Amino acid sequence: MAEETIFSKIIRREIPADIVYQDELVTAFRDIAPQAPTHLLIIPNVLIATANDASEAHEQALGRMITVAGKIAKEEGIAEDGYRLIINCNRHGGQEVYHIHMHLVGGRPLGPMLSH
Ligand code: 5GP
Repeated sequence: MAEETIFSKIIRREIPADIVYQDELVTAFRDIAPQAPTHLLIIPNVLIATANDASEAHEQALGRMITVAGKIAKEEGIAEDGYRLIINCNRHGGQEVYHIHMHLVGGRPLGPMLSH
């Protein structure tokens, strides 16, 4: 069983976060250290530590993360210009918080997908 992270506390609103969307499956909130004019995190309400831990039982929540990303992108006014959705996994992916999350970044040209 994976250990809870700070993101579980954000979902339960036990610590402050700028939550822009929440439903029975997912929560979306602004990243505390934005790397672009728009930078949000979209997470499942259930704890899935990494992409390696995703199973069929999670498909509804994982699918919802993408539809919510599109909805938020429209609300943020970045849908037409475009944006990037990123899920980092484990060390080589640069994952820091072990509650799976999708970054929604945009609001400026983001350049090549990988810097090095
Ligand atoms: P990772 O590197 O795991 O893909 O991304 C973790 C992200 O979570 C980082 O962009 C980091 O800024 C963000 N983050 C870490 N702790 C907090 C927090 O307490 N609140 C918010 N809103 N974002 C956080």
